[in-house]
Amino acid sequence: MKPRDRLRIAVQKSGRLSEVSQDLLARCGLKFRHSRDKLFCFGESLAIDLLLVRDDDIPGLIADGVCDLGIVGRNVLAEQQAALQSREAVVPFRELLPLGFGRCRLSIAIPQELDYAEPSSLQGLRIATTYPALTAQWLQQAGVTAKVVVLSGSVEIAPKLGTADAICDLVSSGATLQANQLREVAGILDSEAVLAAAPGLPPDERGELQELLLRRIEGVIQVRE
Ligand code: ATP
Ligand code: ZN
Repeated sequence: MKPRDRLRIAVQKSGRLSEVSQDLLARCGLKFRHSRDKLFCFGESLAIDLLLVRDDDIPGLIADGVCDLGIVGRNVLAEQQAALQSREAVVPFRELLPLGFGRCRLSIAIPQELDYAEPSSLQGLRIATTYPALTAQWLQQAGVTAKVVVLSGSVEIAPKLGTADAICDLVSSGATLQANQLREVAGILDSEAVLAAAPGLPPDERGELQELLLRRIEGVIQVRE
């Protein structure tokens, strides 16, 4: 790959994290000029550019060295990490800093009428999720054998449709669960947006830029708290 002298950050293009992520970077004093296709933002105040992408692509972009940093939910990072670990592969990205927004949790939920006392209550059930690696890892650690049904979306309606008995999904207020007559019975992961990076610091001036940005982000977060 061509060497780069500018730091590149992957940010969600449109979704729950996109505006807050760009606001945070603006508060760090970063100013950008948007490209016509709006996928690339050129940094005008510092040599730091943005790439606007789907959140699921962020860990891979860091792993491939296309981006140095990313702002992504811990849930996305942890899922891809668990998937790699289950194949005994190296994990080429890590969490650098929690950012304090986009808070939610990955939880097991079951229909209101189903009994639940402990994880073993799930033994033999089918659990629908878009987080198969984290779900499987949690089940294994709890010593429970259950079938993980992988869905790409609308996980919360799976029990009603009969495609699963329970779900493992992101919860924030709990309103979606309530609307689907589901109740949260176990938390798997506490999540928030995080700054993700490759395992080491970039060896060139990008490393210094990364450290500078990190200090500014920490400053902005402190003021907010
Ligand atoms: P993309 O098109 O980028 O793939 P997406 O649909 O996967 O978007 P969003 O729904 O925008 O993602 O959510 C982005 C992140 O926001 C989640 O990965 C999670 O970290 C966080 N989040 C916070 N609260 C919730 C919630 N209630 N439901 C889903 N995600 C939440
Ligand atoms: Zn996504």
